[in-house]
Amino acid sequence: MSLSDSITMKPRHQTIAVNVGGVIVGGGAPVVVQSMTNTDTADIASTVKQVADLARAGSELVRITVDRDEAAKAVPHIRDQLRKRGVTVPLIGDFHYIGHKLLGENPDCAEALDKYRINPGNVGFKDKKDKQFGAIIDMAMKHGKPVRIGVNWGSLDAELLTHLMDENAKAAEPLPARAVMHEAMVQSALLSAERAEEMGLGADRIVVSGKVSSVQDLIAVYHMLAQRGRYALHLGLTEAGMGSKGIVASSAAIGILLQNGIGDTIRFSLTPEPGGDRSQEVRTAQELLQTMGLRSFVPVVAACPGCGRTTSTVFQELARDIQDMIRDRMPDWKTQYPGVETLNFAVMGCIVNGPGESKHADVGISLPGTGESPAAPVFIDGKKAMTLRGPNIATEFKAIVEDYIARRFAAPGIAKSDAAE
Ligand code: SF4
Repeated sequence: MSLSDSITMKPRHQTIAVNVGGVIVGGGAPVVVQSMTNTDTADIASTVKQVADLARAGSELVRITVDRDEAAKAVPHIRDQLRKRGVTVPLIGDFHYIGHKLLGENPDCAEALDKYRINPGNVGFKDKKDKQFGAIIDMAMKHGKPVRIGVNWGSLDAELLTHLMDENAKAAEPLPARAVMHEAMVQSALLSAERAEEMGLGADRIVVSGKVSSVQDLIAVYHMLAQRGRYALHLGLTEAGMGSKGIVASSAAIGILLQNGIGDTIRFSLTPEPGGDRSQEVRTAQELLQTMGLRSFVPVVAACPGCGRTTSTVFQELARDIQDMIRDRMPDWKTQYPGVETLNFAVMGCIVNGPGESKHADVGISLPGTGESPAAPVFIDGKKAMTLRGPNIATEFKAIVEDYIARRFAAPGIAKSDAAE
């Protein structure tokens, strides 16, 4: 085996496929991107808008919290209003503490949702735990819905953890507390999943997760879940945080697991800036999958970082404009031009790497660096096609990109440019 063979991505861990409202999670299906709203679910208008925004950004499943009766009563209306707007994204209900009661008393909510998420650590306490867990599984079977058994480090089953800690203390060679925590996470998830199966819920209706907020702990827990079960796995670093910290931590943890073939659906739990765009978590998840070569969602724009050779802002503005244009146009392009998401564009700052990188892209532009002649050669399909000059370089380049996409995807075969300057 060559060195490059030994370091490439591992085959996907085999899991049992789960159909969540028409979206397949696991069983070798492409890794699914999901997200969660942060609106009050009882506020129907705000929740409908945010679910629609997340779906438009590319979220393939959207989770909403169902925390009280008003929220449960709102769910069927949210589903109906979304369908009226043509938004068909499956909805997942997130239940804690009183899920059994909310689902039992609101059958329309139980029916409208496409999956229920429950946390074995807070489904009930002491003698009520098994009863309330069982009631939710009964509801899932009655309505034909899948369930995610979502263990979270912050609300880990205290009885189970205490039991494992006590056992560990008695052992001849006790494990570190962290290893016991990992074991408690895994046991909580898998024992609950097995119990659901014993009650009659098929393994093809069960997704499992074990979220923690530390990258190394997450990697350990999911490796154990993968080794010991065949349930579809939902990946996510909980409480990942705000800004670059959340993005980096989630990407590191989820990226390493995906590289090892682990994970069937992912969520980035990013804390938005106050008033910030919730859809960022969707775009970030897509970018991770696309940069790892697992899926394609939008054309990639390669841009150099810029340096002392790019003293004007023209290059940064063009890179940003192209990125924005792609994001705005993508919903239309996706339906008009299937396959457009596999394209690569390059926006480069000067002659050092500009022409070389641009030649590797489907369409690339090399802008003039400081002191270079004010001309921007454009490369199409690896060949120099034209040179742009003057104040309208950005507008003209965007038109070239639009034209290229229309020609290449509307009439395959005529897009390959033979044009040369
Ligand atoms: S391509 Fe030119 S401007 Fe961009 S980083 Fe390299 S040297 Fe600097």
